[in-house]
Amino acid sequence: MRVLKFGGTSVGSTEAIAQVAQVIAREREQDPEVVVVTSAMSGVTDMLIRAAKAAAAGDEMPYREARNELLVKHQIVAGQLIEDGIERAAIGHLLDEKLREFERLCQSIYVLGELTPRGLDVVSSLGEQMAAPLLAAVLRSRGIPATHVDAREIVVTDDTFGAANPLLEETCRRVQERIPALLAEGVVPVVTGFIAATREGITTTLGRGGSDYTASILGACLDAEEVQIWTDVNGVLTADPRIVPEARTLPELSYVEAAELAYFGAKVLHPKTILPAVEKGIPIRVRNTFDPEGPDTRIVREPRPAGVPVKAITAIRDLALITVEGRGMMGVPGIAARTFGAVARTGVSVLMISQASSEQSICFVIPAADVDKVIASLQEELERELRRGFVDHIASMRDIVIIAVVGSSMRGTPGIAARVFGALGEAGINVIAIAQGSSEVNISLVVADTQADEAVRRIHAAFELERVAELWPVAEAG
Ligand code: ASP
Ligand code: MG
Repeated sequence: MRVLKFGGTSVGSTEAIAQVAQVIAREREQDPEVVVVTSAMSGVTDMLIRAAKAAAAGDEMPYREARNELLVKHQIVAGQLIEDGIERAAIGHLLDEKLREFERLCQSIYVLGELTPRGLDVVSSLGEQMAAPLLAAVLRSRGIPATHVDAREIVVTDDTFGAANPLLEETCRRVQERIPALLAEGVVPVVTGFIAATREGITTTLGRGGSDYTASILGACLDAEEVQIWTDVNGVLTADPRIVPEARTLPELSYVEAAELAYFGAKVLHPKTILPAVEKGIPIRVRNTFDPEGPDTRIVREPRPAGVPVKAITAIRDLALITVEGRGMMGVPGIAARTFGAVARTGVSVLMISQASSEQSICFVIPAADVDKVIASLQEELERELRRGFVDHIASMRDIVIIAVVGSSMRGTPGIAARVFGALGEAGINVIAIAQGSSEVNISLVVADTQADEAVRRIHAAFELERVAELWPVAEAG
């Protein structure tokens, strides 16, 4: 049994949904037991949220317009892909009902002039509530027995609206009561991604992009063989192809590497959302709906040893480097704790930290937008040290980028850092700061943003990542 999740672009148009139906038909030939999870059609969740926010701000137009636009968007698909008149009428009726609910909700938000997180979840859950019945009807129209399942009946969460946490035990109980029975009858359950409900039945959502989460929760509860994330790219690439045209799909990644890449801004699954599957060791495969035969990436606990020590290179932008410097800091305990305490109080998260062993400076990287408040907080915290000259200055440098070089085979492989810095040195790229975690899964370096793209290309070339697929050992079973 496998769980197949389709993202917004995969169900974004008539052509895309027709393609999804074909993918599902093909996958069923291999193993008829598939559970489908679907996102809303692309752009729909955004539209719903924008309209609700406008209503709260006293503007009725956006939700009236959205209502019509959403009706047309879904009706077109139904009109083109559902053959049976009765089925089509039923979908038309359902769309009408959901959109009337949307209008009523926005009307009350407008009257109240207030949008609570709870209210927002109800509104934003409507996209999946329309997409899943639509997709199920399209599948039936192609001769695939399918039925939609509203995840609010099976995925139980706490009431952290907007980013609800699943209560796995209760969820798995309900999932097991519902899904295997459908599979046993040869029916494909088409489950709404992203949405859930509390024990009391109040609608919640799992956070933006939360359909991945739904898929991994179902995979874990059903002990799936594999969770497949169907998207619009060929898995996870060695680098952003807009920067490095030679970037290639990585055949395999470990869960740890995937998490590291997600942290460093690559378009990879969010570590939190795949956790349920990770905990059970279920492989997660990222595939391209529009190129189902093309290369894809399997994320597993223990990938086969790669032919390259480095797997991917990412760049995160819009950052600033903060330096706290002073000769008097040497050997003074507690400076680091107080520095990061001051940052933490601003609610800003730190992406990278580096301290020279002479202890004369601590530097760390934060989002550029937060520089002013972080500096203010540091000046307040270290006021006495600054006055006494123990800390000389607190400085910020903008227009910097973190380049993260990720790969767990770097561990214990000597010479990786030399190759990275050699490649940059040859290109005359100045490295402003460096950090390597003791896990050795990544080396992060800070460079000026004007040199970032070149840095990524140089490192990519130095490790011959364009050959990643050929350098990988030939597939063995499993
Ligand atoms: N439709 C939701 C969103 O846009 C969930 C998802 O796409 O995974 O965030
Ligand atoms: Mg989405």
